[in-house]
Amino acid sequence: MIELPGMAELWDALPQARMVGGAVRDMLAGRPVADVDFAVPLTPQEVTARVRAAGLKAVPTGVAHGTVTVVARGRGFEVTSLRRDVETDGRHAVVEFTDDWEMDASRRDFTINAMSAARDGTVFDYFGGRDDLAAGRVRFVGEAARRIAEDYLRILRFFRFFARYGRGEPDAQAVTAIMALRDGVVTLSAERVWSEVKRILLAADPRAVVALMRETGVLELVLPGADVTRLAALVARGAPVDALLRLAALLRGDADAFAQRWKLSGAEHERLTALLVPGALAPDADDADDAALRRALAEVPGEILVGRSWLAQDNRAGWDDLRARLAATARPVFPVQGRDVVALGVPPGPAVGEILDEVRRWWMAGGCVADAAACLAVGKRWIATLRSQ
Ligand code: ATP
Ligand code: MG
Repeated sequence: MIELPGMAELWDALPQARMVGGAVRDMLAGRPVADVDFAVPLTPQEVTARVRAAGLKAVPTGVAHGTVTVVARGRGFEVTSLRRDVETDGRHAVVEFTDDWEMDASRRDFTINAMSAARDGTVFDYFGGRDDLAAGRVRFVGEAARRIAEDYLRILRFFRFFARYGRGEPDAQAVTAIMALRDGVVTLSAERVWSEVKRILLAADPRAVVALMRETGVLELVLPGADVTRLAALVARGAPVDALLRLAALLRGDADAFAQRWKLSGAEHERLTALLVPGALAPDADDADDAALRRALAEVPGEILVGRSWLAQDNRAGWDDLRARLAATARPVFPVQGRDVVALGVPPGPAVGEILDEVRRWWMAGGCVADAAACLAVGKRWIATLRSQ
């Protein structure tokens, strides 16, 4: 059994709780478990009362979903009341709390995600998830088409979990349903889609799953014109597992359209754009002497230069060496600021910026090694020239 600090205290307060979802799956798969979620056949009010009576903290984090975060030993665990769908007017999905574990499992997406485990280690597996996990099968709980129509995000979740746990051919029923219902993906909120696509791109080796996304027509909906060959080459070159770097390989250029469509964060958009600027440092000698490396680093963060080197198309020898040199080179910092120029007697205003620019150009041309005193000496000369004009 998984034993994270705090779990014993939680189980003392709620003995009927079971570990659910990804934690059970990863425990059975022998993978590291960082996050444990629980389900419980009690209402959120009962959970809160029992947890507090045991001296633990209970935070109502998802009241609508029946989720209480229980804090034990400084660690938060999501505890969700078992639910079942109640038929209503057919437009709103209304849920009701229940003590029926199988009902709760049947609302989950895949058989490998629908298992639960009690404190004594007993695993409850209503839909054959254990065998599917061992065989590398990602199968929907119930009929694939119906489950997808309930929530189109499950199309992308299928790819995420297939990338991580799948082996051999993907489940035929799932593939057929995905092809029939793929257009539903574009009705999802941009944030949900991007968050899921990011996780797909974080698979150890995303090549097979991206190929499957293309064959099912889903890739074209999310990433029109994606260059699967460039991604394959990037992975084959041994580039690090990095969602934005992989996306940059797929995109072939237009980062803005993708970033706007799927609402990437400002930082993500900026990094993606920087990665896609053409022209990495070439590893050939005269292109990348130490001064050139320092100049490049003065303009662009090292990790972006390293990313661009991975994206460079050719297989010229020397890229590994270049990356090692980049990692070993400190980022040069231009040693003069506006106030230093003002101290030389230049009144604050546009002239200060012009002088700074001029001195920085000189500093760059010299390979970014001149110190503050040398830069200021050049600044003085430049000021004198300006005054004599
Ligand atoms: P990961 O390790 O990647 O977080 P996970 O299994 O914990 O994997 P989550 O997205 O965190 O995945 O979801 C937790 C659990 O909730 C899933 O294992 C699944 O049982 C259920 N679940 C989450 N999203 C859905 C969904 N859209 N439809 C059905 N069940 C879902
Ligand atoms: Mg999770």
